[in-house]
Parts: sequence; C-alpha cells; structure tokens
Amino acid sequence: MPDVTLASQCHHNLATVPSVSTKPELMLRHNLWYRGFRYRINDKRLPGSPDIVLPKYRTVIFVHGCFWHGHKGCKKYVIPKTNTEFWIEKVARNQQRDQEVWRNLEAKDWSVIIVWECELEKKRFDETIDRVEKEIIENGRLHEQRRLERQTIREQWLKERKVREEQLRKEIKKI
Ligand SMILES: [Zn+2]
Repeated sequence: MPDVTLASQCHHNLATVPSVSTKPELMLRHNLWYRGFRYRINDKRLPGSPDIVLPKYRTVIFVHGCFWHGHKGCKKYVIPKTNTEFWIEKVARNQQRDQEVWRNLEAKDWSVIIVWECELEKKRFDETIDRVEKEIIENGRLHEQRRLERQTIREQWLKERKVREEQLRKEIKKI
C-alpha cells in the first residue's frame, strides 16, 4: 500500500485500481500464455469483470491488491493510523463485494482463483504460477466430469422416456 497520507497519491490509486492491469498481473497473464493457456481479459459479461477468464477450464482469475481487498495476515495490508475507520470500512466493503462476485460466478458454474499481489513478488512468483496452473487444470477436470455426468443423466432419462412411450403405445393398441 502506498503512503495514504498523501491525498493526491491516494486519489490517484482510487481512480486507477479497478480496471488498469498492474505489472504483476501482466506477468501472470504472459506466463500463463507461455504455458499454453488461452484466455480473455476483463470480461465485462461476467460478474466482477474477472481479470483473466479461461473458458476451456471454466475458470476465472482475480488478481487482488493486498491492501484494497484486505489480505489477512499480509504485511501489505496495514490499516493506516489516520482515518482508520474510513479504511476499515472501505476494505470491508470491497471484501463483501468480492464475496458476492464469487457467489454469482459459482452460481453460473465458474470456478474462481484468487491471486494476491504479494504472491506475484519475484521470490514467490514461480511457486504461485505452479499453484495457479494446477488449480486451473483441476478445475477443468472437475467441470468436464460434471458435464459428462449431466450428459449421462440426460441420456438415461431419454432412454427411459422412450421405453415408457413404447409401453404406452402397446397398451393403446390393446384397447
Ligand atoms: Zn498479500
């Protein structure tokens, strides 16, 4: 978190936080591309306009700033000593919105991966991207499994309906 006692800098941050891609986010994106993942960015059709959308894996990624989204236990999430109430409330509102977005996405059958800004620092970057890659692949696998299950249930249902129709036809002939 930058020095929030500087009003102008603070305003600058408020204005730029929501949509501008940060450098760590770009690095994450480029690395995923390099590893063969294809994605859309800032998809406004989905709740919360996720930073990265991987349709094939039915997965979205949000890169969260540690201060703005209140990364618990993180050294970058330190509530300023001035205007404390204001910042606490601000971060709490962001967290509440994040949870709503998460729920809405899951209701639409999307998996959500959160990457904290601090996880993209140089010394943690490789470990983070390995973790993200694993999660993406696992999500894709689970979604494919669920899709096949739904397909099987539907095929079974169609088969049973056909049998019922045949039976009905036979009974009608008897009459
Ligand atoms: Zn953090």
